[in-house]
Amino acid sequence: MDFDPTPEQQLLRESIAALGRRYGHEYYVRKSKTGEHTDELWAEAGKLGYLGVSVPAEYGGGGGGITELAIVTEELAAAGCPLLLILVSPAIAATIVARHGTADQRATLLPGFADGTLKVCFAITEPDAGSNFHRLSTVVRRDGDGYVLSGRKVYISGVDQCRYVLVVARMASSTGTLAPALFLVPTDAPGLTYSKIEMELVSPDNQFLLFLDDVRLPADALVGGEESGLPALFSGLNPERITAAAMGAGTARYALERASRYTTTRSVWGRPIGSHQGVAHPLAHAAIQVELARLMIAKAAALYDAGRDVEAGVAANMAKYASAEAATLAVDTAIQALGGNGMSTEYGVATLLGGVRAGRIAPVSREMILNFVAQHVLGQPKSY
Ligand SMILES: Cc1cc2nc3c(=O)[nH]c(=O)nc-3n(C[C@H](O)[C@H](O)[C@H](O)COP(=O)(O)OP(=O)(O)OC[C@H]3O[C@@H](n4cnc5c(N)ncnc54)[C@H](O)[C@@H]3O)c2cc1C
Repeated sequence: MDFDPTPEQQLLRESIAALGRRYGHEYYVRKSKTGEHTDELWAEAGKLGYLGVSVPAEYGGGGGGITELAIVTEELAAAGCPLLLILVSPAIAATIVARHGTADQRATLLPGFADGTLKVCFAITEPDAGSNFHRLSTVVRRDGDGYVLSGRKVYISGVDQCRYVLVVARMASSTGTLAPALFLVPTDAPGLTYSKIEMELVSPDNQFLLFLDDVRLPADALVGGEESGLPALFSGLNPERITAAAMGAGTARYALERASRYTTTRSVWGRPIGSHQGVAHPLAHAAIQVELARLMIAKAAALYDAGRDVEAGVAANMAKYASAEAATLAVDTAIQALGGNGMSTEYGVATLLGGVRAGRIAPVSREMILNFVAQHVLGQPKSY
């Protein structure tokens, strides 16, 4: 067992951290509050190859794995810039295209993922089928050489910034049952419309309701084949969970770093407030939870990159659960340690609250992870 990163991973961590620090949390909050996107940071991270670290080298990517993408996601968040679209574009969409796309799709799409110029969002959640994936009612029917797609999706992040949305729909299989299938839909396709959902999050990336009204698609919009949508889907969901966990861990580190700096200098009883155990112990407790989550993230990413998909699925769920809990605790504890300043925009900690809280719900809720672990790790009867 080796807990040391490779020299390349260490260099990647240091370089992306330096880039993140150049932008920082103030930039992130300013963009969020003015309704803009973090385009400059995304473009620079893409140009430097960080967003494409896990894209195969033959398509211009870094040739690394989800371990490297998790490092990028964590370090940007640790610099105060948790970039939600990393979880959907490079983590889900690029991975699915690289693993399950046709030769044409790989040649056309992967170079854009490699340098970040191509952004693809992901749509699975529906108004009547959130946690219950089996109730998806977005359907696809064959139409000549192509397909027609109809349905509604909700809470889809970043539709306004992306050239395509990767839509999970259901299609009649050869056995007559409805099976999941994945389609790359241009966001300007006739019949596709979207409207912004007002959210209580400080984030430069917005969520949308997506309407798909008889959207006509060519045959090559299908990713992963008509009968193998499920394995393709899961090859993207585990990277999403791992990078979501990495974003939570990075955000937690940012909050704890802000708080620790504050408590060593703030003095209201003649000595730094960090000398009171009532202040220091909750921060230390949160730091331990964050480090445990980081270990699980590293394990999940290593298993995924080794192709051990079943074990990676369990570890990715556990990492996501542990990280969301740790991040919520860390941000809440940091706010408490800063007192009134903890709730100010200037000190940049309360601005993280919505994001870490959402991390307990999305991309998969803590309850659904507990259901999964109870059933698949502890052998309990299926409860849902
Ligand atoms: C900021 C944000 C960004 C998002 N981005 C995307 C995106 O880009 N693409 C996308 O497709 N989706 C996205 N989502 C949606 C997200 O994945 C869903 O909100 C999440 O999966 C939960 O589904 P739901 O909201 O329908 O909750 P529901 O399924 O209605 O569940 C509500 C509550 O009940 C609990 N619950 C439900 N069933 C069970 C059960 N059997 N046992 C125990 N508890 C249960 C849930 O855990 C949850 O706490 C995003 C959500 C947020 C908040």
